[in-house]
Amino acid sequence: MKTVVSGIRSTGNLHLGNYFGALRNFIKMQHENRCFFFIADYHSLTTHPDPALLHVNVKNVLSEYLGSGLDPEVATIYIQSDVPEVAELYLLLNMHTYVGELERTASFKEKIRKHPDNVNAGLLTYPVLMAADILLHRADYVPVGKDQEQHLEMTRRFARRFNNIYGVEYFPESMPYNFGQELVKVPGLDGSGKMGKSEGNGIFLIDSDADIRKKVMRAVTDEGPKEPNSPMSEPVQNIFTILKIVSSPDTVDYFTEKYNTCEIRYGDLKKQLAEDIIKTVAPIRERILEIRSDDAFLAKVVKDGKEKARASADKTVAEVREIMGFKPF
Ligand code: AMP
Repeated sequence: MKTVVSGIRSTGNLHLGNYFGALRNFIKMQHENRCFFFIADYHSLTTHPDPALLHVNVKNVLSEYLGSGLDPEVATIYIQSDVPEVAELYLLLNMHTYVGELERTASFKEKIRKHPDNVNAGLLTYPVLMAADILLHRADYVPVGKDQEQHLEMTRRFARRFNNIYGVEYFPESMPYNFGQELVKVPGLDGSGKMGKSEGNGIFLIDSDADIRKKVMRAVTDEGPKEPNSPMSEPVQNIFTILKIVSSPDTVDYFTEKYNTCEIRYGDLKKQLAEDIIKTVAPIRERILEIRSDDAFLAKVVKDGKEKARASADKTVAEVREIMGFKPF
């Protein structure tokens, strides 16, 4: 069985893009691998240090992942800051990391450009903390998006460097988890681009039925096909892309046919799409709300996750210390 580690952002509500693009794969993957999913609350401090929000953000994100189907009986789900071993591994890895290579990281350069007033050392060493998160459990695989590929490449470099310096074959070269055909990109309903938190076009798992209907009915379309079998404009394609994800093949065929024969009424299409999104989202939302108000359940999930994660982390850090020459008196 392979070990998989995945970090979860600790801010922001989950939207359909997160669910169909990532989470649904995690839910499947948890049964086939030894999975660690952690909520990256230390990482959030590089840009959002807000004591009033830290805990509530973690609680919301945790509830949303559990409500969507991550199973704490199957996977290890934990809060990053509950496992202080990661801070020690981060410190140790920092000793073999060069400032130059960190300064050349694309995400760091972008952060300096966007927030020149807050270029903190945590931002610079973000890839080292990420490497520590991954190497803490000696992960074989990490499910990463395109934007994180460079960080994972750096994790492999740090692992190789550690192995070379100490003449060991200790850390694995963690590879991106390959979902094969199953990766979908969920577009936005505002005409172009993908659905995203910062794009402000998200349909969230926590949205009410009324919110979902409102957002879908506002989706951008066009003036309609002028002649049979004409190509679809991007906004209309986007609606069909989401329809294919949430609706039955019969429904997709029905509206495709209507489009091709120029009989389509976008209002009907949107109504159907909204109802089919609600079919997916409503049961998840109900579970999220139930879990979020069940403090005893959440406390147990967090406690169990912490114990399992620390057992794994403690073993790694003890072995790393020994390799590096720390010895008990
Ligand atoms: P983010 O919300 O951007 O931090 O993304 C978290 C995860 O959700 C990443 O693995 C992304 O690849 C995935 N994701 C985010 N937005 C979309 C989208 N519109 N379509 C597919 N996957 C997405």
